[in-house]
Amino acid sequence: MLVRTRSTSICSNTLNDDDYDYDITPISNDYHFTATQYSNRYEIYEYSEWKQYGILPSPKNFNTLNECLCSLCGREDENAIHYKYFSGFTHESEQLGFNICSLCKIKFEVIIKNRAEMIWDLLDNKNITYVWAPRTRRDPITNQRVYHGPYTYEKWRPISNYVSYMTDSTKGYPGKENTPFIFCSTENQYEQNVSKLIPVVDILKSNYNACKFGKFDATYDPNIDDPVNTLELSPDDKIMLCY
Ligand SMILES: [Zn+2]
Repeated sequence: MLVRTRSTSICSNTLNDDDYDYDITPISNDYHFTATQYSNRYEIYEYSEWKQYGILPSPKNFNTLNECLCSLCGREDENAIHYKYFSGFTHESEQLGFNICSLCKIKFEVIIKNRAEMIWDLLDNKNITYVWAPRTRRDPITNQRVYHGPYTYEKWRPISNYVSYMTDSTKGYPGKENTPFIFCSTENQYEQNVSKLIPVVDILKSNYNACKFGKFDATYDPNIDDPVNTLELSPDDKIMLCY
């Protein structure tokens, strides 16, 4: 069985995750090899990838985790910290996350931050209660997604600071592979809450002008200048807020 995962390496300075393909088919053809043994083997593989290269595994379902076992290195720690994350791939009632031992904590926090580097100041600032992000553009008659025209921007709330990597097909086809997304929810009194994965670069552009003087300017409204369509940024640009 070939498994593809994407995760970031602490050894690399880039924002892009590395791609890994690996084969978890057991070498042994012994039919007594059980499912538990497969998964143990896989976990041991993930522990060594974490220890050697700082590769973060995907968040795990909390119900399946031993709360005293570090999800990253496999070490036992009865004071392990529980981090709950919503990746957007599963139903909200399924809680995903990691248990992190005290020895992995700092390395883990650095990696979580690196994955969202472009908008980290925005995510990390407790005084900022919303971020701007574009709604999906749809044809008013057919309701089909369209790939041209201005965006409507609304206020969203990132549900966690965990960034998922996936193919971005929001701008047309073919999609851009390995793009960071973050799971957000909108709270609008006129309609049901909407939750979706939003490309991190869209959040960067939508809020860039509000933050360009180092403080979040609550009077800024991206509906006026449509920054996802009009703002040109370099790959190194990020939101920088002074505290
Ligand atoms: Zn650990």
